[in-house]
Amino acid sequence: MNVLLLSTYELGHQPFGLASPAAFLTDAGADVHCLDMAVDAFDETAIRAAELIAIYLPMHTATRLASMAMPRIRSINPSAHLCFYGLYAPLNAAYLRTELGGGTILGGEFEGGLVNLYNSLTTNGSGINVPQTDPIISLAKQDFRLPRRDGLAALSRYAYVDMGQNVHRVVGYTEASRGCKHLCRHCPVVPVYNGKFRIVPPGLVIDDIRQQVEGGAEHITFGDPDFFNGIGHAIPVVEALHEEFPELSYDATIKVEHLLKYAHHLETLVRTGCLFVTTAVEAVDDHVLSILDKGHSRDDFVEVIELARRANLTISPTFIPFLPWSSREGYLELLQLLVQQGMVDYVAPVQLTIRLLVPKGSKLLAVEDMQKHLGTFDAAALSYQWAHPDPAMDALHAQVSQAAEAGDAEGATRREIFVEIWRLAHAACGLNPPSLDLPVALDGSDHKPCLSEPWYCCAEPTAKQIAEF
Ligand code: SF4
Repeated sequence: MNVLLLSTYELGHQPFGLASPAAFLTDAGADVHCLDMAVDAFDETAIRAAELIAIYLPMHTATRLASMAMPRIRSINPSAHLCFYGLYAPLNAAYLRTELGGGTILGGEFEGGLVNLYNSLTTNGSGINVPQTDPIISLAKQDFRLPRRDGLAALSRYAYVDMGQNVHRVVGYTEASRGCKHLCRHCPVVPVYNGKFRIVPPGLVIDDIRQQVEGGAEHITFGDPDFFNGIGHAIPVVEALHEEFPELSYDATIKVEHLLKYAHHLETLVRTGCLFVTTAVEAVDDHVLSILDKGHSRDDFVEVIELARRANLTISPTFIPFLPWSSREGYLELLQLLVQQGMVDYVAPVQLTIRLLVPKGSKLLAVEDMQKHLGTFDAAALSYQWAHPDPAMDALHAQVSQAAEAGDAEGATRREIFVEIWRLAHAACGLNPPSLDLPVALDGSDHKPCLSEPWYCCAEPTAKQIAEF
């Protein structure tokens, strides 16, 4: 049976969410074809030939893009069984079934469910109406396989690490763990994994890294929701990585709380080739942080900046500045803190534009502070509507989003975009912006190593993304 695994967007990475199930399904006997719409041409032949089309939905942006693509896919192949899988599939199960024609919805540890679906279709006959037998969310421990990457575009066609001065590194991507043991209220991982995480065997992680190095990778992104959830797993993995590939660099996502708790391992990260750590700060207002149940405070973030600086570790903070509880003055305070702490060059401008999304199942729905701002659920937008009590905040959001997108399109530096956002934030508060005298970095460059595709899984697709799509 022909199985088409389809991805719309995986943050600029070669999609792990296709490579991993491709291995499981091939072992089960399927004839697997992978189509990554982020880089591949729209392959009508592959779509028409498939009896099972499985669409990977790891995040909001990917799901929005998939909903735009589905009418065309369905018109080419109206009879294939449609499966949606990945983190955002169970959160939007009703919409995916009724509006997009999904027959099977799989979240969490989805590979086993895909194999069961394939077996059911081959045994009982294929069709769009084969009933779902596997749970929508499975956290069953799986025997992970080495991801099959041979059906995917070369790594050089994906996002790269921008080292500055026109030096780029080819990026591979793997996952050493999945899920998360924390319960931050705004996080889409939580409704699916509910405080659980799953470890990928270290040998398999290194095997996957090895095959990507052979495919040209000079840098690996660990896509674990939090790389230090299993510190006893993460450290041996990076030690083994560095021993076998001493020239290979990597990046990972680690929460503020873990960077403090395991501060003694910041040196380990740097020594083993960690180029930067993404850390989800989200806010610098302690009241907001407590609503989100982030497990850290503003002062913790400041302490992490200092620890990272001492360890010579680059951190890349992420934020959600536009929430029902944020204010124009609070937004300005965030910018001022970034200036005071010398962090302007470390923050991707898009991070200063993110507006809270409240998906189905969000733990925020149970919070009184959230309920008073909530509107109805907008299935097509995959989020509950909410209105800011201060309409000027929504206006500011539109302005800074436009400034970040335009600056990005013009190739402006982070500093240049920040200066414009700084101006807009002051204007929103009725203030004249004081001139920004940002210090020259010690190494003479304001550029910090970063991925060419900034991390923003919870943003609306940009006009550029939609146009390219
Ligand atoms: S925000 Fe990060 S630490 Fe919190 S639950 Fe989500 S993945 Fe885990």
